[in-house]
Amino acid sequence: MEFKKLAEDFSKIESTTKRIAMTDYLSDILRQAGPDIIGKVVYLIQGKLYPPFVGIEIGMAEKLAIRSVSIATGISPEDITRSLRRTGDIGNTAYEELLAAPHEIKEPLTVSEVYGALDKIARTSGSGSTEAKINMLADLLRRATPLEAKYIARTVTGKLRLGVADMTVLDALADVYGGGRLARPTIERAYNMTSDLGAVSEAVAKGGVNALSGFKITVGKPIRPMLAERLKTPQEILAKTGGECVAEYKYDGERVQIHKKGSEVILFSRRLENITIQYPDVVELAKNTIVADTAIVEAEIVAIDPETGEMRPFQELMRRRRKYGIEEMTKAFPASLFYFDCLYAGGRDLTEIPFLKRRDELTQIIKPLGRAKLVEYTLTVDINQLEEFFEKAIQDGTEGIICKAIGPGTYYEAGSRGWLWIKYKREYRSEMTDTVDLVVVGAYYGRGKRAGVYGSLLTAIYSPETDTFKTITRLGAGFTDKDLAELPKMLEPYKIENRHPRVDAKEKPDVWFVQGLVLEVIGAEITLSPLHTAGLDRFRKGSGLAIRFPRFTGRYRTDKSPEDATTEQEIIEMYESRLHKVA
Ligand code: AMP
Repeated sequence: MEFKKLAEDFSKIESTTKRIAMTDYLSDILRQAGPDIIGKVVYLIQGKLYPPFVGIEIGMAEKLAIRSVSIATGISPEDITRSLRRTGDIGNTAYEELLAAPHEIKEPLTVSEVYGALDKIARTSGSGSTEAKINMLADLLRRATPLEAKYIARTVTGKLRLGVADMTVLDALADVYGGGRLARPTIERAYNMTSDLGAVSEAVAKGGVNALSGFKITVGKPIRPMLAERLKTPQEILAKTGGECVAEYKYDGERVQIHKKGSEVILFSRRLENITIQYPDVVELAKNTIVADTAIVEAEIVAIDPETGEMRPFQELMRRRRKYGIEEMTKAFPASLFYFDCLYAGGRDLTEIPFLKRRDELTQIIKPLGRAKLVEYTLTVDINQLEEFFEKAIQDGTEGIICKAIGPGTYYEAGSRGWLWIKYKREYRSEMTDTVDLVVVGAYYGRGKRAGVYGSLLTAIYSPETDTFKTITRLGAGFTDKDLAELPKMLEPYKIENRHPRVDAKEKPDVWFVQGLVLEVIGAEITLSPLHTAGLDRFRKGSGLAIRFPRFTGRYRTDKSPEDATTEQEIIEMYESRLHKVA
């Protein structure tokens, strides 16, 4: 297939506003491509060379592409940069510059040649690779027509955005090679099991849908993840799941699909990229806790506070998404792992067995240890129990719960968002923008690194109406080593045997204090909580308000008496004023 044809079709796809026309052009491309080249064509259409899990990307900087265009045309890089500033698109610039400096094309480029050259550019690395890439691209552009150059330039810089979704390609494959719409589910299943659009296209083009029966789960190729729908009340959830469900904590981290074969472990992200090198600690955890020789399991990676072991917000984990400095980041933001599903074990595909059976398999092949655990869960048929579990989940620092249907047909629906999994997220949360002053009323002994000092402090706000101190959060973050060493001494004078009568608390700390020390604290947000007494019953029966992710700012408010601490009314107003519904 000539690349010219592909470039012309790209141009047509780009200029149509009609969906049907786009699918027609796409079908036309796939038909023309034929079995031998279709796999490559399918990736080129999406501006890629491989499925995401392979991890080979061209990703050339625009600056380098400018130099290639300059070499190919003999026009100065400054002029090309000026053109780019005007067009705002490297593709259009390449097109215009090649038109301005025409060259003779002896032999038209084929799709195979272009793909091969791009692949070579993508794989070139190490010292001197930048110059080599520039020259390889220049050689390719020298053989290209202006239109071809347009799409080549966009592809190498990662800017080809034709907007052709995977699902549209599957539709077109069914039409062209599968004999029509009836073939669509089979084709999609093959894709969902392997995430390899090119391989699926090639197989269908060669042998029709029958050829897809050989598409099995393979360790090393990610399975497209099953996703959750959402609902707003436990009533609705139980109604949808047939009156019973397994509710699990919804951890606020990054989803990972772990593939294990012997001593090799590969990690795939939710978007099916290979993220193994970013998480050496997770690889270790997986090796130590997955006891099956071959397995594919799913888990959530969650950042934890290295000192207290408490869960940290998702944003902190995202700081580990980087190419360099991985070791330092692993130390600064260590991760824990919560396993929630098992898709393959010991050579058996488990995606077509019901949820509870998969969970059985999961418990058999996972031996929890240290930071690698199974998700917290409960099996319930009761609305109130579901609500209680939800609040416990929030209190434990998660986003809410995911309720999973457990009936006979509850298979792992790869690649689809359905009602078998329903998320129920924190609906009531309020972002905190101001600091608050909290009174220390209790403390918990530290463990691990904090052995011998306090691990966290129980803190409270003040209620002038009742003249009591009501608890609002357990504070463990933001303390320096010096703070930690000094706190026991500082708090010693306040120590008492039992809870002070002016303290209103459900929590039972290891040590009680009479209200005295005031600390300035900032948190991420205020949420409903069954564990604290601030604002109790005000927004929901049995629940108070809590500060999530509290952090000591470093300011001891010795200038304040405990009665000068933030009041209950202030907290209620803070909660209400910034309350927004998050479904
Ligand atoms: P969302 O991203 O809001 O659509 O929620 C679904 C995501 O929740 C999944 O992709 C996982 O990353 C995450 N998650 C956290 N805990 C669980 C769990 N117990 N079961 C399934 N997914 C979970």
